[in-house]
Amino acid sequence: MAKNFRGKRPCSICRKWFQPDVRQKGRQTTCSPACQKELHRRQCEKLNKKNKADYKNNYLTKKLEKAEEEHTSNAASAVLSLQGQTKPVLPIEVIVAEYGIKPAVIIQYLAGQIITQGRIHQSP
Ligand SMILES: [Zn+2]
Repeated sequence: MAKNFRGKRPCSICRKWFQPDVRQKGRQTTCSPACQKELHRRQCEKLNKKNKADYKNNYLTKKLEKAEEEHTSNAASAVLSLQGQTKPVLPIEVIVAEYGIKPAVIIQYLAGQIITQGRIHQSP
């Protein structure tokens, strides 16, 4: 068993030095249940943000792949299907002609994101 219990450590939340509970064998990184709760909340938040970002990346990647496939097999119908999904009326045809199908998908995706954000902020 450990002989030296001077092992104080700084709380990973409030940075106050505290004496870890002997029974918790070095796993304790916070000084109080309140800080423990905050630590847990922050870890969950980080994880959620990462998952959300991953989800969005996957979603966009799939969309890009699908659009490219459609575009190679039937360019006109790919543009049409993009137009059909568009909530704000974007000049999809022009964007595709100028930049290509992938940038068009990205622009449409971003426009959709901006609109969704706007809706969230508007709601009471
Ligand atoms: Zn603390």
